[in-house]
Formats: sequence, C-alpha cells, structure tokens
Amino acid sequence: VTNTEPARYSAIFLDRDGTLNRKAPEGEYVLTWDAFEVLPGTYEALRILDAVSDQIFVVTNQRGVARELMSQEDLDDIHTRFRAEATSQGVKALRIYVCPHDLDAGCKCRKPQPGLLEEARRDHPSVRFETSVVIGDSLSDVEVGKAVGTLTVLVGEQQGDADASFPTLLEAAHWLEDRRR
Ligand SMILES: [Mg+2]
Ligand SMILES: [Zn+2]
Repeated sequence: VTNTEPARYSAIFLDRDGTLNRKAPEGEYVLTWDAFEVLPGTYEALRILDAVSDQIFVVTNQRGVARELMSQEDLDDIHTRFRAEATSQGVKALRIYVCPHDLDAGCKCRKPQPGLLEEARRDHPSVRFETSVVIGDSLSDVEVGKAVGTLTVLVGEQQGDADASFPTLLEAAHWLEDRRR
C-alpha cells in the first residue's frame, strides 16, 4: 500500500455488477430492476462508506446498451430505483457513471480505461484520486484504480494484485473504516 491513510477518503468508486448486485451469467446482462439483485450487506456497506468518504460514485460498464439488449431508459430506470432504495436505506448520495459503449467503440470510458473516473472528477473537482479508493470484483477495476492512483480493493472470488481483497463489500467497508488515520 503506497497511499497514506487519510482521515477521510476523498471518493469511493464502486463497480456495480458483482460488487453491489449479483452479476448476470457470462454473456448476459441485468436488463430490468426485477433482475437487479442487490447483494446481502450492500446497503450497510454503503452507509459505512458514506460515513468515511466525501463522495461515492458507481462506475460501470454496461455494453448491453450498445448491443441494444436494453435502452438507455431501461438502464436509467434501474439506476433511479437503486438510488431511491439506497436513499431510503440511509445512504446519502450515490452518483452513477456509465460506459454504454461496446468493446470496439474506441471510447475512453470503458474500464479499465479511466474515463468514467476522470468525468466524475471533472464534475466534482474536490475529488483527489490519491486519497480515493476503487472497489470492484474484476481485474479491470484494479487496473483503473492503479491507472489514476487510488487505493484498490477487490471483492469476491477473483484474485489479483489489489491493495486488499475481501469476500464481500461489507468486509471491505469495515477494513476501509478501520484503516483510517
Ligand atoms: Mg463487476
Ligand atoms: Zn465508453
């Protein structure tokens, strides 16, 4: 871990599928709110992360939009409902940034490219990557965190070169809470 332990994290960047909600099987996509299965402990973890950071961003690749398996409106509907549910569960503010592009679109926002994080920082200039955290279940999440210089945390079963790894987001949240200066 090269980052200094801050008293508060500037921003927490969270992956969506496999981190907050159950991932669809390989090659499939979460297309509706009914199929959006929030993982156990997610809201509790978000409340903890909310308390120890200035802002929380969800950064997610959703190429089901480019593939026309769902519309932008379908995706917005899922996110509107998730944000409303999070609010009702005591989570302050959740901002969601999406890459809707396909693999071959040549965009700069599909993780592991850092475009979504840079967009979040443009919108919220107080964000400091060096005291921020990326949490996700994929190596592309670790990669995007390393690209911009955040702490990186892997959740789930994937093994990789992150600063820390935990089976669940809740355990990751407790660790981030405890390691503060
Ligand atoms: Mg994921
Ligand atoms: Zn993109």
